Formats: sequence, C-alpha cells, structure tokens
Amino acid sequence: MKRDKALDRLRAGSEIFDILVVGGGASGLGAAVDAAARGYSVALIEQDDFAKGTSSRSTKLVHGGVRYLAQGNVSLVMSALRERGRLLQNAPHLVYATPFVIPNYSWWGGPYYAFGMTLYDLLAGRWSFGRSKLLSKAQTVEHLPTVETKGLSSGVMYYDGQFDDSRLAINLAQTAVEKGAVLANYCACVGLIKERGVVCGVFARDVESGQEFPIRAKVVINATGVFVDELRRFDEPNAEPLVAVSQGVHLVLPREFLPGNSALMIPKTSDGRVLFAIPWHNQLVVGTTDTPNVKAALEPRALKSEIDFILEHARQYLTRDPSEKDVLSVFAGLRPLVKKAGASNTAALSRDHTIIASASKLLTLTGGKWTTYRKMAEDVINQAEQLVSLGHRPSITTNMPIHGAAEPSSVPAHLRVYGSDVAGISALISADPSLNTQVHPDLSLRQAEVLWHVRHEMARTVEDVLARRSRALLLNARASIVAAPTVARILAKELGRDAAWADAQVKAYSELARGWILGEKSAAAQPARNS
Ligand SMILES: Cc1cc2nc3c(=O)[nH]c(=O)nc-3n(C[C@H](O)[C@H](O)[C@H](O)COP(=O)(O)OP(=O)(O)OC[C@H]3O[C@@H](n4cnc5c(N)ncnc54)[C@H](O)[C@@H]3O)c2cc1C
Repeated sequence: MKRDKALDRLRAGSEIFDILVVGGGASGLGAAVDAAARGYSVALIEQDDFAKGTSSRSTKLVHGGVRYLAQGNVSLVMSALRERGRLLQNAPHLVYATPFVIPNYSWWGGPYYAFGMTLYDLLAGRWSFGRSKLLSKAQTVEHLPTVETKGLSSGVMYYDGQFDDSRLAINLAQTAVEKGAVLANYCACVGLIKERGVVCGVFARDVESGQEFPIRAKVVINATGVFVDELRRFDEPNAEPLVAVSQGVHLVLPREFLPGNSALMIPKTSDGRVLFAIPWHNQLVVGTTDTPNVKAALEPRALKSEIDFILEHARQYLTRDPSEKDVLSVFAGLRPLVKKAGASNTAALSRDHTIIASASKLLTLTGGKWTTYRKMAEDVINQAEQLVSLGHRPSITTNMPIHGAAEPSSVPAHLRVYGSDVAGISALISADPSLNTQVHPDLSLRQAEVLWHVRHEMARTVEDVLARRSRALLLNARASIVAAPTVARILAKELGRDAAWADAQVKAYSELARGWILGEKSAAAQPARNS
C-alpha cells in the first residue's frame, strides 16, 4: 500500500497488465483481489479515495435482503446469504451477527413475519446467523427498550450481518496488494487506449501532480459505480445509459434513541420500503430512502424531503422523538441500478449485478450489493478470461482470508476493526505513549491510528482518515471538524507537506463535513436531478 511505488510502476509504461480495473469501490476492489489471487498481473486506479463513492455510504448490512424475499427473488436471497456467511468467515474482524426486531402493530404481523423470517433462516442453511423467533409484546420491548408501545402486539426477531463498509474496502485493497496487484488512489481514468478497435488500456491522470500517462492491459474492467456510463462513453460516445441512479440517505443519531443490542426493522414504510435503525460503532444509523433519477455525483447531498421522511418514521416508531438538532451526521449514497425496460421506479429495479462487454471489449461490472461483491468479482474475472482468451484459472476467494482477518479478541472495542493489525497500532503506542491521545474527546480515534492510516493504508488527505479509515465523519461530523487540524498536522509530517498544505486540508475538510451536518448552510444543497 505504498502509493509512490505503485505510481512509479504504473507510469513506467513497460508492463502490459493482464487486467486493469477502473474504480476502487466494492466492485473494483473485489475484482482486483479475485484476479490477483488467481495469479494474474493486475492494476487498479481510483479517481478519488478507495470507497469514496457508494461503498462507504451503505446501510452497513451484510444481508440476504429481506425485501428481495418479499419480492420472491429467492435465488438472489440464497446467493447473498451464502456470501454473507463467507464474508463472516473471511473477515471476522469486520463482520458480525446482529439481532433485528420487527415490531408488529397488527395481529397478523407476528405470524406473517415469523413465517417469512423462518424461510430466510432456511434459505441460509448452514450459513445461518441464528434462528428467528416470535416475540411477545413484553419481549419486544425488552429488546427494543424505546420502541413505541401504543398498539404494539408482538415482535419477530431474526439475525443478519453488520460490517464496516469502507474498512472492508481498505482491507480488500491491502489483500489485492499482498497478492501482487498494483493499486493507486487519486488516479483517474481520463480516456481509453484502443488499437484496431479493441480497448487495450487507459489514459490515467495522477490527481495529485496532474501528470497523465498510459497504462496498458489485455482487458479493462469498468467498475466505476454510478459513473459507469461516463467510461462507456469514452468507448462508445453514443452508448445508451446502462444505469439509473437512485439516492439513499441515512441519519446518525445518538445511541440513547435505541439502547440495547438489537436493531429495529420497519418492514413497510409509507412508500413501501424497508427502514432500519441499527446500532453501529456506538451510535444509531437510521435509513434509508430511495429517491429516483438523481444525477451521479461524488459527494451527493440529502434532500430535505429525505431527512423529513426518516425523522418522521423514527418518531413514529421510537418513544423519544428525534429532531434535526439530534442528528450527528447525515450521509447520502447513490445506487447504480441496472435499467430494465418497463420498470417504473428505482425500488423495483434489480439489485442483482450485471456484466456487459462492449464490441471493443470494455468489460463493465455494475449493480449488485456490497454483500455479494466476492461473487460479482468471481463472475467478472471469469468473463474477462473468456473475453480476451486468458485461459481459465479458478477463483480461490471463497475461503480466502481478507487482510486483517482475525477472530475478535480482548482488544478494546474501537480497535477491533483492525483485526490482526491491532498489534502494529499497539506497537506505535508502546514506542510513543503520547500517540494514544484521542483526536477529539467524543471520538475514539487515536493519533496512532492516523499514523497507521498514512503509513499502511494509503491515506492521503484529512478526509481519507476521518471519513473512510476511521468513521468519525459519519459518527459525529461536528467533532470531526474540530479534530481535523490534529489529523492534518500528523498527515503533513508523514507525507512531507508544509503548513499551507495542512491549512488547505483543514479548510477543504471542514467545508465538506459541514455538508453532513443538518442546519449548516452547505447541508441544504439540493442535488441536481435528472429530468
Ligand atoms: C444508500 C445505500 C445503502 C446500501 N446499503 C447496502 C447494505 O447495507 N448492504 C449491501 O450489501 N449493499 C448495500 N448497498 C449497495 C452497495 O453499497 C453498492 O452496491 C456498492 O457499494 C457499489 O460498489 P461499486 O464499487 O460498484 O461502486 P462505488 O463504491 O461507487 O465505486 C466506484 C468507484 O469508481 C470511481 N471512479 C469513477 N469514475 C472513475 C474514473 N474515471 N477513474 C477512476 N475511478 C473512477 C469512483 O470514485 C468510485 O470510488 C447500498 C447502497 C446504497 C446507495
């Protein structure tokens, strides 16, 4: 995970990689890991930071998708449940089972959802995370102490997985590098190289220096999330759009709004969606929405209507009513949903993944979900092998540990996400105990972690540290702004930058983070909508 070395190798121009991946989210990183593990030479470039896009803005569920079960999509649910089990096995430091409780306010809700969740358990088979059960009203309140009790008749408990999305992305990047891949963040694809009508590389731009250079490969995989159509148009200027973009928003509330260990699942909101209130890193994540026809953007903003929708539902189901001032952070993510003729709204579009090859052999991977990233990667590398006659080497990722894989041990809760890397962070603190200082009293992040992020996880900016290596921006946006100067100082020293650079970093970060705080000017921004 040394960016300078990676760039030197990419810029050298002497190498023709077997596979070049554009996009460093779940899809692209998964593809790089799968291909490198098969023994191919692999490069991956990401225009911003790893997981800057949708892959750091999910609901943090590793799940089969209860909603898809209700839609009768049994094969999708089964495949996702299998992947859920594999992810727990391969990244036990990041994935864990959580009890979810559906509160029922009608007599039929109990038997109806108990039946559905039993089916969910059965579909999971040996990958089950725990047996679902029907709860009495008293038991429901025991598990959800602040649930609205007026009209409550019963509850249904089931188990699903939770994870830390951007930490998994960083660990996948590290896994890919350990398998021999060359990865660089802040390196954008700005064009495609074509010879005799076939894509055989990209023009890349090092975003930090502005330098442009070609990277050659036998096959290029377009894994750019909601931006896949931009890359497809480099290939075919008149290509019909493949994805529809829909926005999902989450609010983060203090944990007091739902104490206990269980998550709340609302199976049917007023617009027919599923809504969750999930304990995560000691706060409560509530969401999500589904706003269709949003324009692709790297830093999408929540709409006022989405914020109101989530707050209204939280007030309906919780005894303590959250207001805007309780919100610690608001984040928006964009779904790349594959277009299907005749689908009227984005909630009905497929969450399954799609792989298409253009006439000039650009391979595009899109759709799917975080939970199924491994299977998506396996499928796209199989396709790549066929497309450019690489031969066939079977995927070996089903039982392959991801960087950091270690059973949770007695380390402090906030360090568990580092898995086996905890030893390295502890060694930094042993050598200099002052590094055990928190960057802010309300954030668990220690200075030693920031050093680790820069030295071993390719963090380049204050945002990389506070938004994706740690989750400070999501957990408490205001506190993260106060912490920014400390983080900038550590980064500047490590990266050999001056005070002006650090000041500019703090300014840029503070501006961005204000967009994650309700009531701040920039949070009110309305995302551009497609007509
Ligand atoms: C609100 C919401 C909640 C979700 N919740 C869950 C959940 O709980 N569980 C689950 O399993 N799934 C969930 N998903 C789905 C999951 O998050 C996505 O399927 C997944 O993150 C998509 O990853 P990706 O790599 O395809 O896209 P992205 O993560 O967006 O990655 C694409 C990357 O490509 C880069 N890129 C774009 N253009 C270029 C270029 N020209 N050059 C270089 N790089 C480029 C971008 O910067 C970006 O980082 C959720 C999605 C949303 C929107």
